[in-house]
Amino acid sequence: MKKVPYRVYLDEQELPKQWYNIQADMPVQCKPALHPQTQQPIGPEDLAAIFPMELIKQEVSQERYIDIPEEVQEMYRSFRPSPLCRAYRLEEALGTPAKIYYKYEGTTPSGSHKMNTAIPQVYYNKEAGITRLATETGAGQWGSALSIAAQMFGLECMVYMVRISYEQKPYRKSLMQTYGANVVPSPSNQTNAGRAILEKDPESLGSLGIAISEAVEDAATRKDTSYALGSVLNHVILHQSIIGEEAIKQMEKIDEYPDMVIGCCGGGSNFAGISFPFMKNNIKDGAKTRFIAVEPAACPTLTKGKFAYDFGDTAKMAPITMMYTLGHDFVPEGIHAGGLRYHGESPLVSQLYHDGLIEGCAVPQTKVFEAAIQFARAEAILPAPESAHAIQAAIEEAKKCKETGEEKTILFALSGHGHFDLSAYEAYLSGKICDVEYTEDMLNEGLRCVPSIGCK
Ligand SMILES: *Cc1c(COP(=O)(O)O)cnc(C)c1O
Repeated sequence: MKKVPYRVYLDEQELPKQWYNIQADMPVQCKPALHPQTQQPIGPEDLAAIFPMELIKQEVSQERYIDIPEEVQEMYRSFRPSPLCRAYRLEEALGTPAKIYYKYEGTTPSGSHKMNTAIPQVYYNKEAGITRLATETGAGQWGSALSIAAQMFGLECMVYMVRISYEQKPYRKSLMQTYGANVVPSPSNQTNAGRAILEKDPESLGSLGIAISEAVEDAATRKDTSYALGSVLNHVILHQSIIGEEAIKQMEKIDEYPDMVIGCCGGGSNFAGISFPFMKNNIKDGAKTRFIAVEPAACPTLTKGKFAYDFGDTAKMAPITMMYTLGHDFVPEGIHAGGLRYHGESPLVSQLYHDGLIEGCAVPQTKVFEAAIQFARAEAILPAPESAHAIQAAIEEAKKCKETGEEKTILFALSGHGHFDLSAYEAYLSGKICDVEYTEDMLNEGLRCVPSIGCK
């Protein structure tokens, strides 16, 4: 028998009862979000048209810990904790002295970490008397999670799904419909934002930026409807801290503490979710853990983008936030990690990256699939292509340990399973996936649309 079990769980009474809010501990606070039209700091009233007040309060809260409502805890208990897994077989395959752990979020009903925020978001909306939610989805993971959560609490769910994913992943659409959601490909002809894009480019593959515009417009124009976002925002990142809060307790049980924490980074929520509770110990207690955010080379927001005020969406309806951005008009190539195709980044992750608390790296997709297959063959779990970015970086770090002989402890977030991504695996296995270059020209072109607001 292994000294550390393959999987570490928590008892029900050990489950975290509070979320961790890094806003209480950041060395430098984020700059305020600005109104898309007036470019003045945004107030709660501005957000009230699309979000319930409790979520708006969480968005700007400076409290270190926020209680998880009992109803949300009850829902969490039905699928949490997610297991903390020791990757013994991957370690062996790599011949590394490193100890590799991963927190596996694929065990939630939707198959990814997105359930962790879908549940509280639906809960707070229901409490506020909202009966319908509008959202966008890229790879379909967020739309699935929100569809399930909306069904659990009896709310309607309207999903604008990025067209390329709609076509690449028809089963994701069926899954959302199974849970009662209404799903349309974005750009759609149901909103002004969608119609404007279609007029210019009837073949548009869509992007998260465009789909966000459609969902925000939907919510802003209907009283019964709120908008829900699956990443980026502070309240989403707050909810995802459940991952790291559990991981801390699970690692304590086996007397471990990570030398590095790794996560793939689209909008930043799973990375932040697993990292921030550990980062608190770096900030407050001098712990020396490294935090590595991994992004696709085709959409290298942190590693190549600019730290600037930019719009969260293409139609400039979402707030302007200070973040790393490739430009709100940038439409990334149709790479197979749809959940990582976003032009921007969480303002919290961006600020902490800017201040040197986070490292970034960008990985081309052929390398990502290589790592995904190596992981699947060793650990028997089929990872989502998004999650495989974190795997790739973890494998690289483990190989470095092999060279130096260091017995480092690596923890990464396995944000979801890849059961709905088999067309991507099929493409890779039949040699149809190639690397998409992100060029200096693309960056310059993308940055042309970034407004110049106090960031020179
Ligand atoms: C959505 C998604 C991501 C990317 O979103 P983040 O907010 O950066 O976490 C990563 N992995 C999976 C499985 C996803 O569904």
